[in-house]
Amino acid sequence: MMERPDLEKLAVIRYPDPLLKKPSVEITEVDSFLDELVCRMAELMEQERGMGLAGPQVGLNYRIVIGNPTMEPGKYEVLINPVILKREGRLIGQEGCLSVPGVFANVKRAERVVVRAMRPSGETVEFEAEGLPARLWQHEIDHLDGALFVDRLSTAARILIRNSLKELERAYERDSNSGG
Ligand code: ZN
Repeated sequence: MMERPDLEKLAVIRYPDPLLKKPSVEITEVDSFLDELVCRMAELMEQERGMGLAGPQVGLNYRIVIGNPTMEPGKYEVLINPVILKREGRLIGQEGCLSVPGVFANVKRAERVVVRAMRPSGETVEFEAEGLPARLWQHEIDHLDGALFVDRLSTAARILIRNSLKELERAYERDSNSGG
């Protein structure tokens, strides 16, 4: 049974919130709550000018992601219980994340992926993605397994962002101590 939080109160959580590290569980019920959740996630993603958002990023450890590689308002796609069936090629490209604000780094990903997922209608689809959409879905699906893009960096790339991560850790510490 899915938690039914107050959707108005949902917000994007930030590194190093432990919920970002927690693996998410499959969604077994497709109902109207899920539609409302998707709308709220899309709203948050667009407010923060993101290209994608995963359940754990709003503190809900369920296997749902939304993505909008074109960033055109309302043109997002929804994947429920997504699985990457096939990965091909390698490509390095820059990534950022709404949960790791202000941090950008080059990440090596598969160039093409085949993804299987359920749509909010309950229909199961299989599709191929290449380039930016492929990168986006790999990044979002990683969130469902508790992995952030900063966990996938080369040692050299990691050193470059070390101070920014420390800054976010201090900010998180401050906010936790102030009871917010
Ligand atoms: Zn992310």
